[in-house]
Amino acid sequence: MISASLTKEFEAAVGKENVFTSEPERQAYSYDSAVLEPVTPALVVRPTNSEELGKVIALCNENNCPITVRGAGTNLSGGTIPDKRDGIVILTNGLNKILEINEEDLYAVVQPGVVTAQFAQEVAKRGLFYPPDPGSQAVSTIGGNVAENAGGLRGLKYGVTKDYVMGLDFFDVNGQLVKTGSRTVKCVTGYNLAGLMAASEGTLGVFNEIILKLTPPPAASKAMMAVFDDVNKASEAVASIIAAHVVPCTLEFMDQAALKHVEAYTKAGLPVEAAAILLIEVDGHPGQVADEAAVVEKCLSKAGATAVHVAKDAEEKFKLWEARRNALPALARAKPTTVLEDATVPRSQIPAMVAAINDIAKKYDLAIGTFGHAGDGNLHPTILCDRRDEKEFHRVEEAVDNIFDVALSLKGTLSGEHGIGMAKSKWMEKETSRATIDYSLNMKRAIDPNNILNPGKIIAG
Ligand SMILES: Cc1cc2nc3c(=O)[nH]c(=O)nc-3n(C[C@H](O)[C@H](O)[C@H](O)COP(=O)(O)OP(=O)(O)OC[C@H]3O[C@@H](n4cnc5c(N)ncnc54)[C@H](O)[C@@H]3O)c2cc1C
Repeated sequence: MISASLTKEFEAAVGKENVFTSEPERQAYSYDSAVLEPVTPALVVRPTNSEELGKVIALCNENNCPITVRGAGTNLSGGTIPDKRDGIVILTNGLNKILEINEEDLYAVVQPGVVTAQFAQEVAKRGLFYPPDPGSQAVSTIGGNVAENAGGLRGLKYGVTKDYVMGLDFFDVNGQLVKTGSRTVKCVTGYNLAGLMAASEGTLGVFNEIILKLTPPPAASKAMMAVFDDVNKASEAVASIIAAHVVPCTLEFMDQAALKHVEAYTKAGLPVEAAAILLIEVDGHPGQVADEAAVVEKCLSKAGATAVHVAKDAEEKFKLWEARRNALPALARAKPTTVLEDATVPRSQIPAMVAAINDIAKKYDLAIGTFGHAGDGNLHPTILCDRRDEKEFHRVEEAVDNIFDVALSLKGTLSGEHGIGMAKSKWMEKETSRATIDYSLNMKRAIDPNNILNPGKIIAG
């Protein structure tokens, strides 16, 4: 319970209208997009400027109240589930201003609650390009993207969110503003704290302003869909495109189970009889696009694609990508519970990983639809189940363990982009080492001695 007097202090800091105390209001922030038990926060606070944000953090620390910062709550790893010890949720939707778009020096400065797609659209209006495009971009926030180091459909060629963070300032646990990086292309002033903050999941500080790199957009692009009657041929095609040293901006995979659900939901005209499809886009100078598309088409037919459809206009291209972006919501309609995993392997191991996921589905008698950023080695096996069925959910947990074991045995990683949060912290030592856990814990304790910055995330303790 947060005392009435402390609630009043929060109200004095951000205004009574920005402190939410009722049960239904608080419950709305008890869960996120991961399949985990919800925890209702003791209080929800919505600062609307930097000064208020700093005051709220200092108040939390002085009163030993655990903080969980929440952007859109779309993370898939339990990163915004509040702490059980009277956790306080800080919303960033009142910190949603684009402060600057500098067309000359190619950067922008934003508050953390800016919605990713809205930012990308504003940038595009100035003839510039912000490449990171998580599937959730219509609602996810830049703060959440940095804190998870979100990837997206263009990660293969353009990299992930951290590659666009030139600098940021963030509040430490005492509510003091820490600055790192700059508006310059190069900056080696001090430790690379921006790098440390990427994927820190709210456990080391709270972002206040973020400086993002912009680039000129590609002059041309070409998108295509390749159809396969054998899932292994599709995964081998991925490996062969990478081996041909072409870097498409996007190289996505969808197996038949995913295809059926996506087509039923989007009516995009996907070939539901196919064993798998690849969605591919190359971009750049028109000459380069033509050359690279030719190499890709050659790789596809050599790998055994039964058809390759090239999008003939922007509308067709949009339809293909909308279908892909809707993969998760489409699969999520099938059953009450959707467990989406994020295991990632070196790209040459995609065929082995896809085969292993199919074996695991059979072994545990589970419906698994797989899609993902195959060009990054980042697959999203999505288990469709019903959490209320205890026996089935036990099999789901075993299947997930198995998926991670295979990914690690293929020299992969637990998470390519969705973060560790609460959902995967138990596997951290398996991928890293005890020394890594201790090193990280020592750092966390030095930065946050009361353990109030999103406790229980990444490293359980
Ligand atoms: C349909 C769907 C598709 C998705 N597609 C992708 C994808 O393609 N690629 C991908 O990488 N992810 C994807 N995700 C996962 C998710 O959208 C990303 O992790 C995203 O970055 C989360 O942003 P958010 O604003 O929702 O953050 P939240 O979920 O609200 O928060 C995420 C983490 O960031 C922390 N945080 C938020 N704001 C701050 C701040 N100001 N300071 C410090 N910490 C902060 C939170 O405490 C939490 O730990 C998808 C999710 C869904 C539901």
